Amino acid sequence: MAGLTPVADALAKVLDGAEPLPEEWIPVGEADGRVLSRDLVSRRTQPPADMSSMDGYAVRAADLPGTLPVAGEAAAGRPFAGSLAAGTALRIFTGAEMPAGADAVVMQEDVKRSGDTVTFAAAARPGQFVRPKGLDFSEGVPALSAGVRIEPRSLALAAAMNHASVPVHRRPRVAILSTGDELVEPGAEPGPGQIVSSNALALAAIVRREGGEATLLGIVPDRLDATLAAVRRTRAEGHDILVTSGGASVGEHDLMRQVIAEEGAEPSFWKIAMRPGKPLMMANLSGLRLLGLPGNPVASFVCATLFLGPLMRRLAGRSDILPVEEGAVLGVDLAANDHRQDYLRATLAESNGAWVVTPSPVQDSSMIRVLAEADALVVRVPHAPAAAKGTRCRIIRLAR
Ligand code: AMP
Ligand code: MG
Repeated sequence: MAGLTPVADALAKVLDGAEPLPEEWIPVGEADGRVLSRDLVSRRTQPPADMSSMDGYAVRAADLPGTLPVAGEAAAGRPFAGSLAAGTALRIFTGAEMPAGADAVVMQEDVKRSGDTVTFAAAARPGQFVRPKGLDFSEGVPALSAGVRIEPRSLALAAAMNHASVPVHRRPRVAILSTGDELVEPGAEPGPGQIVSSNALALAAIVRREGGEATLLGIVPDRLDATLAAVRRTRAEGHDILVTSGGASVGEHDLMRQVIAEEGAEPSFWKIAMRPGKPLMMANLSGLRLLGLPGNPVASFVCATLFLGPLMRRLAGRSDILPVEEGAVLGVDLAANDHRQDYLRATLAESNGAWVVTPSPVQDSSMIRVLAEADALVVRVPHAPAAAKGTRCRIIRLAR
């Protein structure tokens, strides 16, 4: 069908001109979920010296087997003063520095201690149970790359490299506006013909999970003045993105195009060749990126997954921005697809070591419950041929 924008083209337009936000320094302990704005170079070498990886005895391998006098002791944080003389052994514990002269550790289970001597029945391999200096990382060498989203493991690495603070990109600030005369806030009493607004809370949760700051602007009625006022206020407050839901199709009350026109801008696109979520809009209102999502809850969610997520990750400075597609096996037969790229809500179950994905038989884009129960979206490209149960397909897992 003419006039529909392919998903990939729409995404390219959403990302057009988007640059990572400016750098700021934050305490390393607050860096979980933040994105490094430059490579993190180690400030230390780890281990800082050769270290024992066992409780046992440090020796010169050439002295074994045999019975040796115990020259002293080394423990984590308490190194042995001096070097190990030939023909002696040192009592040593995990994490202790190896004394100069020693080249191996024999674990305590493999020796016989009696008074001040220790007997080694077997030979030792030089280097055994020794972690060499710099095994993990070395001073001056980058060990975490710009664009990495810090999680507990990379946070531990940054701390171990002795960074008290780390350079990250500022978080994207995202405002969320619901449009529609029919909407009331959760917990309110809906009047005749009204429904509870659910999109905004889901969008705010997505924004936070993507490492952004979410501001809920509430609901505006389908009126140009109210919508325009909300948009102008948002821009004045310095948000990076305004996400709207509703008012994006061609119906009489659909205002987002008018709002964008009033702001002297042109929407970047209008209808996307995808299902759910055909109407979608992007405009740049002097620095504020406006992303107009459809009102249908499933369409709003899927469009947020496909477009808002990547845009936020780009602004946040991440190097990995696209939704991850994985392989799975179809649990049912699927008919041939039409001209729109399909994102079918589906459940996943493991069977004989493979992930089997079963789309819900009903794919209405208003159905929040089906969405909440789904584990994945099955991606079907435009004009995909019929696919039989048991054949491979592509999925995007949904976060739990
Ligand atoms: P619209 O895009 O404004 O034409 O809305 C499409 C459908 O989504 C309508 O049935 C709306 O009632 C519904 N809808 C719009 N906004 C929301 C919202 N914030 N939460 C839940 N449903 C909504
Ligand atoms: Mg509406």
